[in-house]
Amino acid sequence: MDPLLPPETAEAERAFPQALAACRDLDALLRLKGAYVGREGSHVARLMDQLKAAPKEQKRDLGAAINALKNTWEEALKARQAELEEARKAAKTLAWDRTLPPPQPARGALHPLNRLMGRLVDVFRPLGFHVEEGPEVETEEHNFDGLNIPADHPARGSADTFYLAAHPGQLLRTHTSPVQVRTLKRLAPHIHEAGGIRFLAPGRVYRKDEIDPTHSPMFHQVEGMLVGHGIGMQHLKGTLEYALRALFGPATEIRLRPSYFPFVEPGCEVDVSCPLCAAKGCRVCKGSGWVEILGAGLIHPNVLDFAGIDANEWSGWAFGMGVERMAMMLSQTPDLRLFFENDQRFLTAMGGLD
Ligand SMILES: [Zn+2]
Repeated sequence: MDPLLPPETAEAERAFPQALAACRDLDALLRLKGAYVGREGSHVARLMDQLKAAPKEQKRDLGAAINALKNTWEEALKARQAELEEARKAAKTLAWDRTLPPPQPARGALHPLNRLMGRLVDVFRPLGFHVEEGPEVETEEHNFDGLNIPADHPARGSADTFYLAAHPGQLLRTHTSPVQVRTLKRLAPHIHEAGGIRFLAPGRVYRKDEIDPTHSPMFHQVEGMLVGHGIGMQHLKGTLEYALRALFGPATEIRLRPSYFPFVEPGCEVDVSCPLCAAKGCRVCKGSGWVEILGAGLIHPNVLDFAGIDANEWSGWAFGMGVERMAMMLSQTPDLRLFFENDQRFLTAMGGLD
């Protein structure tokens, strides 16, 4: 230590090696460099100010002492910088293990509701059912008239249905049933060659519902329809028994209760024995052992007539089910909104719907 240098410089010089060793990365090193040899406010900068104010006869020796100190610090900083850069390079090399498989981009997946609809389609495909689709903007004719829904039916009121203000007579379909009307009309001329008609119609539908844990203005349905010679309730029951056992397990029982839908006669609600508690009674089935799963019935003759199919010769059945309702039951999800919020943690946890 040069006797010409002030005592605080001696202090800084003593602390330097430890401060240097404590620099674990280049940012820390740059801060230390600034504090010791930086242009402004550093130890060296302060010494240079003192040099300017020093008496003339001291300037030469003091200048040499400051320079020597500055060089020592700068060299040590440079050496430490080289060390840290080397370490960083080595760490990068270590992080890349060339024997590991390359990083994979995150994989996308179908939405749980689409997977559940796909599962329903898979159950019916071996029975000769194909998938029909229709537009989500429909005419009143397809959505109501063709389905024997009278003009005074509440579903036709604007309080329950989204009408398109700019296109009178058009609306967002309130069910997937207009696909029945379209498909029956299209296939009616070929019904004799084909020996009948059978198809599934999965899709999105819209109603003016407030959003709450069990309602959404947009939801999904899957409908199924079969037309043939001499088709009755026994065929409906047998087919649903097969399908619901394929979905919920071979021990599943079904139960038909009379109900009313304008486009079927007779109509029924269909219950399955609760798949979650094996019909012993639980929260989902409210202790009854049964869960309502879909609505069904024999196609109303007016629906066949509207499509140009002779109701004296042909008959058939139809059913419709809510996809969200089924997904909520199967996954015991209490809130419908979770299916539309697209939180990936929820969607991933819904893998069990496959
Ligand atoms: Zn139950």
